[in-house]
Amino acid sequence: EKMKKYFPINGGILGRKIGEVKAVDDVSFSVYEGETFGLVGESGCGKSTTGRSLLRLHEPTEGKVTFNEKEITSLSPNELRTIRRDVQMIFQDPFASLNPRQTVEKILEEPLIVHNIGTPKERKQMVSDMLDTVGLNSYHAKRYPHQFSGGQRQRIGIARALMTKPKLIIADEPVSALDVSIQSQILNLLDDLQKGFSLTYIFIAHDLGVVRHICDRVGVMYLGKIVELSSSEKLYEKALHPYTEALLSSVPIPDPTYEREHIELIGDMPSPSNPPTGCSFHTRCPQCMEICKTVQPKFEEIEEDHYVACHLFSKNEQL
Ligand code: SF4
Ligand code: MG
Repeated sequence: EKMKKYFPINGGILGRKIGEVKAVDDVSFSVYEGETFGLVGESGCGKSTTGRSLLRLHEPTEGKVTFNEKEITSLSPNELRTIRRDVQMIFQDPFASLNPRQTVEKILEEPLIVHNIGTPKERKQMVSDMLDTVGLNSYHAKRYPHQFSGGQRQRIGIARALMTKPKLIIADEPVSALDVSIQSQILNLLDDLQKGFSLTYIFIAHDLGVVRHICDRVGVMYLGKIVELSSSEKLYEKALHPYTEALLSSVPIPDPTYEREHIELIGDMPSPSNPPTGCSFHTRCPQCMEICKTVQPKFEEIEEDHYVACHLFSKNEQL
């Protein structure tokens, strides 16, 4: 059964220009209700900006961002507040996003106050319930962020994101700052919460390792563009784009008898302010052809629900 398209994110998102840096260029994808959509790429590829554009934490300079058919870029502050109730964010470093002078209770109550939810007494109860939900206790409510471990702080960050009962959560590398042993606890928590609260996730990550088990579909980004998009199953089985193959080749395989060839990417990622002509990956692509240097490959559906932008798979024969 096909899931309902719930969060159409269309029209090309153009990230805030920092100097002349075009962080995100013409990104277009849809997220389905109840799924976890992974956005993966090396740092600087524009994936965080894409996530933030959805919340207008970054002001897009051009293009438009839509959420539930509303164009976020043209909303009034009031409408934007309503959207922010439905779309919340979880950050990589929860410590940096938690006010050190506020108790956990204040931190968790704040979104309720902003959105006019509940009486003071009800809010206290909601905070205490939420602490239980994320695996903390109500006696944690009077403590300050520095009194918690990294994993606990991320639980607080998650609790804060959930206070307004959002529909969509954008999780920006939510476990990459945590110890490996803690990572799986947080991922399990996110998984449980998704079921319990009917959440949709956009999960931003810099490698394909973490994404594998939790994402239904994955979009791989390079220099501000999605270069491949498919179900994670298909992506791990049969990645098409040479960049995805390279990313996959550095994901450890649990089976020691099986060896995957490691693909070393030559050179650094080019500057987003001065992207290469043609295919923006051509300066590092092991399979680069002449045409790649001048002609930008189209993002095409190669097989059902499997999209790729690469001349190796291009349908229209212009080679
Ligand atoms: Fe490599 Fe060419 Fe495909 Fe780009 S279009 S990924 S350079 S083969
Ligand atoms: Mg990032």
